[in-house]
Amino acid sequence: MVLENKNTDLYLEEDQSYRDTISTVDKEGKRIWLYPKNPKGKLTNYRKLLSVFFIALMIAGPFIKIQGEPILLLNIIERKFIIFGKIFWPQDFHIFLLVMIAFVIFIGLFTVVYGRVFCGWVCPQTIFMESVFRKIEYWIEGDWKARITLDKSSMNANKIIKKTSKHLIFFGLSFIIANIFLSYILGVEKLTKLVVEGPSEHAGALIALLGFTAAFYGVYARFREQVCTTVCPYGRLQGVLLDKNSLVVIYDYIRGETRGRLKPKEDRAALGKGDCISCHQCVDVCPMGIDIRNGTQLECTNCTACMDACNHIMTSIGKPQGLIRIDSEASVCEKKPFKFTPRIIAYTIVLMILSSIIISLLAFRSDIETTMLRTPGVLFQRLPNNEISNLYNIKMINKTNREIKIDIKILSGKGKLKLIGNDLVIPSQGTAQTSAFIILDKNDINQFKTDIKLAAYEESKELDNFTTTFIGPINN
Ligand code: SF4
Ligand code: SF4
Repeated sequence: MVLENKNTDLYLEEDQSYRDTISTVDKEGKRIWLYPKNPKGKLTNYRKLLSVFFIALMIAGPFIKIQGEPILLLNIIERKFIIFGKIFWPQDFHIFLLVMIAFVIFIGLFTVVYGRVFCGWVCPQTIFMESVFRKIEYWIEGDWKARITLDKSSMNANKIIKKTSKHLIFFGLSFIIANIFLSYILGVEKLTKLVVEGPSEHAGALIALLGFTAAFYGVYARFREQVCTTVCPYGRLQGVLLDKNSLVVIYDYIRGETRGRLKPKEDRAALGKGDCISCHQCVDVCPMGIDIRNGTQLECTNCTACMDACNHIMTSIGKPQGLIRIDSEASVCEKKPFKFTPRIIAYTIVLMILSSIIISLLAFRSDIETTMLRTPGVLFQRLPNNEISNLYNIKMINKTNREIKIDIKILSGKGKLKLIGNDLVIPSQGTAQTSAFIILDKNDINQFKTDIKLAAYEESKELDNFTTTFIGPINN
């Protein structure tokens, strides 16, 4: 995003070459290791609370059951997916696809209007990095300056103890996270069974567990913010999703410029100085290593740490808070408070509609799926009493975890259905096949092919309805 304002020409003329590179890579292409300052403030406290809530939810997730099924299971190995306790089969792929499409549109529209708030506040990568691993690092090695000193110091007993203990804890935590992750793929019961039976019987499970542990350890110990800037596709899309009306964490350059150090008893207004006192606190706390005063940048996750830091400075020098705040570039540029424009309202309505579609698709999916087709190679049979019958093969899939006894009824027109064999019972998460006759009176047949609507009931509750065709003689 390029800042535009006629009154800030000087600001705009500043070197914008920082946009050509990412902040954590130097001219030689080497990684610049970040030492962000431990953030403090109101928003940081809110973020901590939210992180505790999300971490508790992530840990508890595999244990939370709805009608005996986990709240979320994404078993890609066995192609079994459970969302909010509902089992999605390969036959439900169309629903899955629609939900995914709706979800992608939702994310896109949400970002256009409300910015990248997901990254800084909800994304598991940020939550674990900033609220767990970074906190342990501060606890063991101290705040940023102590960490810089420690890293620059030669190897001694203190450094060995601190580094070893930190990495051991990181590895242990990565192992726990790998277990949580795998329990969303395999299910907590199956994972427990694999662990209890031991690596001698399930070497593959152990390899997978160690592989995920190593991956998480690598991400949180070394790769860190690079995930957000170089790997995450959502992060890389920011350049096209955000525009000047999007809500972002933004530096009010009109109020802040021209920046300059605070000197005792100076009249900053008379000197043409803005409210930014060049204290660098907003840069020091940034976990992505950027200077938000340069404008909105790809790396910014909207974590709001810089807002807390600047608000603290503004309060201490007797200026109003909000020099860095959540606002749109258009509002800052035009010096107008953020307004809900018709476009934002329209997008919000679309978001609400999409949310309803996603919820309805998930909530109202039928518990069973029925296929009823005429038996191949068999035409119609003439029966006594002036009746015609067709033979059908019925296949039913039970998508729930309970056994279902099915009663099939004809909804359209006259006729009767006669099941061949015993009661139709579908085992939990299983399939059942049977055959049946549909019998119509000859006088009710007006065409060669007649559509027959049917429904499957569990007691009096309709679970599924479907259509099949009936063939019969046109001229009696
Ligand atoms: S924290 Fe605020 S005052 Fe300090 S450099 Fe950043 S924007 Fe300027
Ligand atoms: S610029 Fe501010 S909001 Fe963006 S990542 Fe850095 S500290 Fe967080």
